[in-house]
Amino acid sequence: MLSVRPSRALLETIAGLAYPRHCAVCEAPLRAGRVLCADCRRSRTRLEGARCATCSQPFGGALEPGFRCMNCGDLQLSFDFATSAYRSRGAVRELIHHFKYNKHLHLRHLLGRMLREGFGDARVRSLGVDGIVPVPLHPTREREREFNQSAVLASVAAEGLRLPVEDCLRRTRYTSTQTHFHREERFENLAGAFALRRGVDPSGRHLALVDDVLTTGSTADACARVLKDAGAAAVVVITVARG
Ligand SMILES: [Zn+2]
Ligand SMILES: [Zn+2]
Repeated sequence: MLSVRPSRALLETIAGLAYPRHCAVCEAPLRAGRVLCADCRRSRTRLEGARCATCSQPFGGALEPGFRCMNCGDLQLSFDFATSAYRSRGAVRELIHHFKYNKHLHLRHLLGRMLREGFGDARVRSLGVDGIVPVPLHPTREREREFNQSAVLASVAAEGLRLPVEDCLRRTRYTSTQTHFHREERFENLAGAFALRRGVDPSGRHLALVDDVLTTGSTADACARVLKDAGAAAVVVITVARG
């Protein structure tokens, strides 16, 4: 007799079209609908323990409350603090790489949830965030990549947080890849690379600037400066991972 209900095998085939059937990191076979195998899920490194109160750079051992690292002590950073739930290591770094550069867009659900975990930081909760601002890409870069990873992750994270995504910023200058620059050069290279979109008024707002990874903080600093100069009361930086 012909069954009118789709078989489990058929459902798994359909799910397999949207979600590859192998772990996104180690390629171990998976049940349909999963993205990571149990080992890779567990191996994601959490950002925990003592860290800089501003940039979240971890340090071994005990630190004074409110400790700031030397880098943050030297710089007048524009954001209030940066936080993440994960470190950009191993499985987490690979996930972000596959998403961003190999265009594995199905990873947005997992990475968006990991970004949302960053909003669980006690300081973020006590501050109270009222809008999420993605880091913009220059239009030329967005055409090359075909999507803005920050905007995609912001919209996934925003769903569960019931916060609006506010596309406040635009990138005015195309900056080449920064990897060959020293820390100070990165900050100088990005100064003035972002501007407020027309008609946007962030005055008095508590905004969360979101991105995939925070490394030196130069991009986040340049974006936060624009928001603060326009009157934002607080800008915190929340990323999927801390480099
Ligand atoms: Zn795996
Ligand atoms: Zn720091």
